[in-house]
Amino acid sequence: MMPKLYSIFKLRCPKCLHGKFFESHVYDLKRLGNVLKECPKCKTNFIPEPGFYFGAMYVSYALGVALFVAIWAGANWFFGDVSVWTQISVLTFLIIILSPLLFALSKIIYANIFIHFDKDTSKKVADEN
Ligand SMILES: [Zn+2]
Repeated sequence: MMPKLYSIFKLRCPKCLHGKFFESHVYDLKRLGNVLKECPKCKTNFIPEPGFYFGAMYVSYALGVALFVAIWAGANWFFGDVSVWTQISVLTFLIIILSPLLFALSKIIYANIFIHFDKDTSKKVADEN
């Protein structure tokens, strides 16, 4: 599987794919989207500079739009006669429910743009365990 997709969907370190990326579970509201300082396995710095994850809000926006379009198109494809207000209610509900997940995904996708998979690091970490 492609390392970046694995890192994103498993929420693992983009470089070694073994260490955790977040402090806690995605829906742990007290530590919502808190990224670890470094990878617990390969020590890759997850926060290279202050405010690094500011740019993740663009990713978050893109994810939100993609989700909106997918649900809207799907609803119209399968349920042609659903009212606009029902669609808006369902969308609002889903966006609220999914926002912690979208927030986390946007950060790890953003990290994956800058931190790249390294086969040797990954193998080294795997051998140590
Ligand atoms: Zn790592």
